[in-house]
Amino acid sequence: MTSASLVWFRDDLRVADNPALRAAMERGGPIIALYVLDEVSDGIRPLGGAARWWLHGSLTSLGDRLRELGVQLVLRRGPAAREVRQAVTDASAGAVFWNRRYGGAEREIDASLKTGLRDDDVVVESFGASLLFEPWTVRTGAGQPYSVFTPFWRACRNLPAPRAPLPAPRELTGAADIDSDALDDWALLPTDPDWAGGLRETWEPGEPAARARLRDFLRDDLDDYDRARDEPAAGVTSGLSPCLRWGEISPHEVWHATLAGVQGSKTPGGPRAAAAQRFLSEIGWREFAAHVLFHNPDLATVNLRREFDDFPWPRLKPTALKAWQQGRTGIALVDAGMKELWHTGIMHNRVRMVTASFMIKNLLIDWRHGEEWFWDTLVDADGASNPFNWQWVAGSGADAAPYFRVFNPELQAKKFDPHGEYIGRWAPEYGRGRAPEPIVDLGESRKAALDAYERMRRS
Ligand code: FAD
Repeated sequence: MTSASLVWFRDDLRVADNPALRAAMERGGPIIALYVLDEVSDGIRPLGGAARWWLHGSLTSLGDRLRELGVQLVLRRGPAAREVRQAVTDASAGAVFWNRRYGGAEREIDASLKTGLRDDDVVVESFGASLLFEPWTVRTGAGQPYSVFTPFWRACRNLPAPRAPLPAPRELTGAADIDSDALDDWALLPTDPDWAGGLRETWEPGEPAARARLRDFLRDDLDDYDRARDEPAAGVTSGLSPCLRWGEISPHEVWHATLAGVQGSKTPGGPRAAAAQRFLSEIGWREFAAHVLFHNPDLATVNLRREFDDFPWPRLKPTALKAWQQGRTGIALVDAGMKELWHTGIMHNRVRMVTASFMIKNLLIDWRHGEEWFWDTLVDADGASNPFNWQWVAGSGADAAPYFRVFNPELQAKKFDPHGEYIGRWAPEYGRGRAPEPIVDLGESRKAALDAYERMRRS
């Protein structure tokens, strides 16, 4: 009789298009599923509050789905390497399957676990499931990783097309139950105080909701995506970032569903096709960020462009940072964005750029402080995309916006929220004349930022 296979779920909280789960099915024998909450292994970044909230919902959904299919989702907490080995022993598993992760500490854990288990004659296989293109397959002619997005994406598009998604299993053979933590004991949900009301109103974590979100986006919003994706009030972007972050849906499924939607339309070469390409190139930015992280494991803490190590950041003013975090800067679009983030765990991309630019360049606060706040408050907080984009705005990153391009939040509001709908929704005090005074003068602070940049360049 074939021994049990253990499927270790990580950033792939789904049963469809899950190559690790598929491998366990094909091996035959009973299956056990495992999720490990690891907040203690060296280099692992503990999840932020909003991410913990999402994880609770997503694990609940995954556990339900696996139970319907006949498999137990075992929950363990502690250093991943120790917990996986213990679960292998408890389940008398002869094989372990997982889908790859791309952070530095995660890869180290996985590599040493793989070696150790294989030494013990346990079969171990890992698979590509979270990215369309594995980082080591996309290289310049000189064999280097790309540092600019456009040639990177062109090179990806010249590779064989992403594989078709694997179908969801109809039924699975479960192994005998082993000990599992109770999800509630992990206390991932906030209680005292319960600040997650806005998150509950906005989101439904889990694979079925992710799939419905993709379907609705392709049906209702894709046609307007190219035209209105930069307008925060338009609501035409997919909202898939947390679903992709947690792997509730695979990029392969998004890719193929998007292209299928275009092929089925009345004008296959028309504006819908252009919108689809635009949307897929945003998925390309997600790929790029992950590849950059793969090649730069310290992305969240170290400037990619090392000359920024000499940037003369003034001493941190905690009151300014707090005003920014709480949406009390006196700048309408910035305050609206920071309140949207606090309430819903998400913020529109254009507004993320504006709020980040304001914090870095008008308040002269080191980008790492903002990255940490987003890490704690975003439901899509991602170890690659978050620091990648903060470095992009700061000018210190890959293919970054030049430092001297300082967004003017008032002009940005005029251009992208011309009727004040978004600001009216999240910071209505501006319409009622009850907004605070700006905590900085936009013109003067811009000049101070450019002076600091010049000093860095000269040093
Ligand atoms: P859509 O416009 O529908 O795009 C589709 C998908 O493409 C997104 O779901 C996302 O997976 C990907 N994508 C789009 N833009 C980007 C981008 N610039 N970089 C990487 N992937 C992208 N995105 C995260 O997923 N996690 C983060 O932690 C994160 N932090 C950010 C921090 C800052 C300062 C900035 C400026 C951007 C950040 N982004 C992050 C990127 C982007 O803002 C979000 O992915 C996007 O707003 C999500 O909305 P959507 O799903 O409706 O996007």
